[in-house]
Amino acid sequence: MNIKHKIINLDNSDYHMHSMSFSDGMNTIDEIVKFAWEIGMTEIAITDHSDDCMASLIEKFWISKNAYRWLTKRWWNIHNEISVIFWVEADILNENWDICDTIQWKESEFINLSAHNNVYKWSKESINKAYKNAIEKHNKKIKFICHPCSNPNFWNVVDIEALIEIANKYEIPLEINWSYLYNGKTNLEKLHILLQKADKIYINSDAHTLFGLKEYRKNAIKFLKENGYI
Ligand SMILES: [Zn+2]
Ligand SMILES: [Zn+2]
Repeated sequence: MNIKHKIINLDNSDYHMHSMSFSDGMNTIDEIVKFAWEIGMTEIAITDHSDDCMASLIEKFWISKNAYRWLTKRWWNIHNEISVIFWVEADILNENWDICDTIQWKESEFINLSAHNNVYKWSKESINKAYKNAIEKHNKKIKFICHPCSNPNFWNVVDIEALIEIANKYEIPLEINWSYLYNGKTNLEKLHILLQKADKIYINSDAHTLFGLKEYRKNAIKFLKENGYI
């Protein structure tokens, strides 16, 4: 089953990665931008974690935020021609459509929407209702749904067919997350359902390192080719 037409970014672009400037990546924005250009990328979105997600990570690992987020307004790419976008990986907070889409308390115009078990404290089973409500309420600013069949903490309870249906209804792409695939944290059965039934798909690295930015994607393309999707 060839699904080339459904994949938005089969070209050299990547819309999910993390920096050390605002969340838990290992590199600064400038390092990422330089390296992404070197490996031939044309557009990237740096999608650092939301305030609530960072708060939970700080509790666990004492992660500091180094830069003021508002400085991105004064930041220009002085290195190369790559197009750089700033979104936020927003968190679903509960089953009542509440999300956290801020970094340093500033709301982002666009988000990629995630469920993380360190942030979502309600029962795991309620995640399906939570996805539905969050999408219905915030669909206009959601660029895509992150790692829907790849979060080990939710992968067994996510009703992937229902999630695909609601995403398709609002024309929101679903993400194939190559970091989770590479690291063996993906429900492959659900991934194949997603590849076949989602109307729009993003393939993103979710890189937290330069290695991830370069290698996860290669692995991803190989997976899609081997399975006859491209
Ligand atoms: Zn995530
Ligand atoms: Zn992420």
